[in-house]
Amino acid sequence: MSSIKETVLQINLAHLTHNFNYLKSKVNPGVKILAVVKASGYGSDASIIAKHLEKAGADYFAVAYVSEGITLRKSGVKTPILVLHPQPVNFKKLIEYQLQPSLYSSRVLSAFIETAAEQNQKDYPVHIKFNSGLNRIGFSKNDVEHILDTLHKTKAIKVAALLSHLAASEDATEKEFTIKQINSFKEMTTQMIDKLGYTPILHQSNTSGILNYPEAHFDMVRAGIGLYGYGNDAKYDSELKPVAGLKSVISQIHELEPGESLGYNRAFIASEFTKTATIPIGHADGISRQYGNKKGFVTIQNKRAYIIGNVCMDMIMVDVTDIDCKEGDEVVIFDSNSSAAQVAEISGTISYELLTAISPRVKRVVIDDN
Ligand SMILES: *Cc1c(COP(=O)(O)O)cnc(C)c1O
Repeated sequence: MSSIKETVLQINLAHLTHNFNYLKSKVNPGVKILAVVKASGYGSDASIIAKHLEKAGADYFAVAYVSEGITLRKSGVKTPILVLHPQPVNFKKLIEYQLQPSLYSSRVLSAFIETAAEQNQKDYPVHIKFNSGLNRIGFSKNDVEHILDTLHKTKAIKVAALLSHLAASEDATEKEFTIKQINSFKEMTTQMIDKLGYTPILHQSNTSGILNYPEAHFDMVRAGIGLYGYGNDAKYDSELKPVAGLKSVISQIHELEPGESLGYNRAFIASEFTKTATIPIGHADGISRQYGNKKGFVTIQNKRAYIIGNVCMDMIMVDVTDIDCKEGDEVVIFDSNSSAAQVAEISGTISYELLTAISPRVKRVVIDDN
């Protein structure tokens, strides 16, 4: 009998430790590891992940928004936390919870200095974000003088780090572009350091930067997806272990005669006898409608069962005509054997999107077989 009684997201901490150690083995001993735990730890549970990695030796954490950093502090995380994409409206809270902002434009830099000064801060640690080609957020080369001028006029903040982000580190065909990004970051940071009078931490690499570009490791690397078991490449996927396993059960079996329809809008019409299984997970749980109509699949008794008809809010129906299964049997949406990367790829998306979509409604269960 299956131990799974309802839809659950299993979080395997032994796999997390394995991935952390694997990524750490890819960088030189002095290089710090920042663990990215944004979006609920890539859809798992940010506090559980961060507290485990804090013990494993993570040097830093990063989240996207201030509210995510506050969640970590409230659960007792003491390690420095970088907020990658903060908004000025939350700067007071950011300081209250001792989070470190990534400051990415003159507007945001001025706003932060103003808040830090109001709060009587001295040398408050900040990260200055440079745009080296992603063209998303970050200062440009032309801003260096202005940043330095602004910094020299205040005692409220101090630069803890300079960072940038790679656009295509997983893509071997974009090597030339990536090398350009690395060189551009080197150039901008050299100019900064020359005039700052001290040397902040430099960081530019995400998971694929860690794996593919040793020359972009600098003083610290930012590991996200790799920690959760995905390396954006079959070669690395085989070394890593998926942390999250999404599992459910068969609620009910139906038998359709030819001509009968299934689900909303009658999107599936049986052309022959079809046995279907209904599973308690839907688009409100993170299985988007794009997986419907045979794009996505689940695994039952080690066999693929394709989603037929439209994905409902709280349910999917899958074709189990050729699978020997019954109500109450375990259903795997993704796990170590049927990885989120494979499931995502079939319906035209990436592991990141499938993982981070799993809604809070799905119960999280920690598996710790260390
Ligand atoms: C999300 C994010 C990361 C982590 O990227 P992965 O590819 O998941 O390792 C690193 N840096 C920044 C700025 C990010 O937004």
